[in-house]
Amino acid sequence: MKKIRLRFAPSPTGYVHLGSLRTVLFDYLLAKNLNGQLILRLEDTDQSRQIQGALDNLLEVCNWIGLEFDEGPHKENQKYGPYIQSQRTDVYKKHAQKLIKNKSAYFCFCTKERLEEMRSEQTKNKQAPKYDKKCRYLSKEEIDKNLQANKAYVIRQKMPTEGEIKVYDELRGEITFKANDLEDHILMKSDGMPTYQLASVVDDHLMEISHVSRGEEWIPSLPKNVLLYQAFSWHVPKFIHFPLILNKDGGKLSKRQGDVFVEDYRNQGYLPEALINFCALLGWHPKGDNEIFTLSQLEKEFSLNSLGISPAIFDIDKLQYFNGYYIRQKSDENLYLLTKPFLVKAKLLSENPKQEEREKCLKLMPIAKERIKTLNDLPFLFSFFFEDIEYEKSLLIWKNLSEKEVADNLKELLEIIEKIENWQLENLEKTIISYLKENNKKNGDYLWPLRVALSGQKFSPSPFENAYILGKLASIKRIKDAISLLSY
Ligand code: GLU
Repeated sequence: MKKIRLRFAPSPTGYVHLGSLRTVLFDYLLAKNLNGQLILRLEDTDQSRQIQGALDNLLEVCNWIGLEFDEGPHKENQKYGPYIQSQRTDVYKKHAQKLIKNKSAYFCFCTKERLEEMRSEQTKNKQAPKYDKKCRYLSKEEIDKNLQANKAYVIRQKMPTEGEIKVYDELRGEITFKANDLEDHILMKSDGMPTYQLASVVDDHLMEISHVSRGEEWIPSLPKNVLLYQAFSWHVPKFIHFPLILNKDGGKLSKRQGDVFVEDYRNQGYLPEALINFCALLGWHPKGDNEIFTLSQLEKEFSLNSLGISPAIFDIDKLQYFNGYYIRQKSDENLYLLTKPFLVKAKLLSENPKQEEREKCLKLMPIAKERIKTLNDLPFLFSFFFEDIEYEKSLLIWKNLSEKEVADNLKELLEIIEKIENWQLENLEKTIISYLKENNKKNGDYLWPLRVALSGQKFSPSPFENAYILGKLASIKRIKDAISLLSY
């Protein structure tokens, strides 16, 4: 039986964005579903568009997400290597010569100036710009003469001049292209580097790729690819094009939108589980209503049959929803470890916090869990637990109570609170609420000022939660501070 081999073949032109994360995730899941292998290949033949560190960033992201490759530039197994295209230029040269020899490709000596002139003429005549095939019909003598004179050349693929080209996509079925719409496109550039079209086909063949899976934006390349396989008399692999990802307004999701880099999401405190779940649903349709899928569940459930072709909509609210969901699934200890770097970065916690600081964090976790959407929300929403607070005294005032009344209420509460020995959340709540009830006091008159005294915030967890997390000493100090702020 033929081996099942898939590949992820990014160009190192930038850091990984969510679109490419979706592609590599789908490649990985398809490989798992088909019981095949996943190969990483770096398509770096366009040297001018390269970004330093792109491969490292990709490996780092995949590692963080939990996606593994079976082969690639970073692996020991180099059986089909090298896996970096710029290290394979001889292979492409050799193959381009084969195509020249079997007359599927030709040398083109047209100068840049001639091509520009041709294009502007075509545009003027409202024709689609397309190479006019001048060099396709050069005589052998002319070609030899040009080569001997060391004239710069590119190598172009000879495309059919008439009829239709029928190709097959596993998700869309047969797709027909008119020969007339296809250009004799370039396979080898004048700098001796191959184009994507040549390099990817040669490598997919030599690396024995059985399923070429990539984004829908590559469908226009499909007829060129298939014709190249035929020109080499090679077996054509299966092609799968994942649906486009569009913005909510239907526009194209741009790679250049800085905020879609996986790195940025990670720095904002998104969890890998949430990104995986979110990306999985960009084109994949699970059977039931459940939308929560971990990587290992996806490995079991994802299949080619459940992939769609209509564009997937990128809805950031959904990502937030998943992130909140996975945050709530974390144990307190785990969530503490995950949020710690964010607290340290916000200078609210030291790298090696004291035992009591750590305990404070652990008490905060179950309360924070219900309120945060990203890990970075934690220092943002709860800094008052970690640093001194400052606020306007007007914030302490509940409805039409006077400053004196508020101060008196806080004093009353202080007396109760100082006596509480068992500093547990339930006990704090029970003691204070029963006191208010037994003495016929209105909750708001006491609990609003108490909550503000402890947090300095308009919005925060309940006064009991605040007091519980802060601890007895800090709570008493903050209540006393509030009383002095009211000057009573
Ligand atoms: N190098 C192409 C890219 O960066 C890959 C296309 C493909 O998978 O064939 O998107």
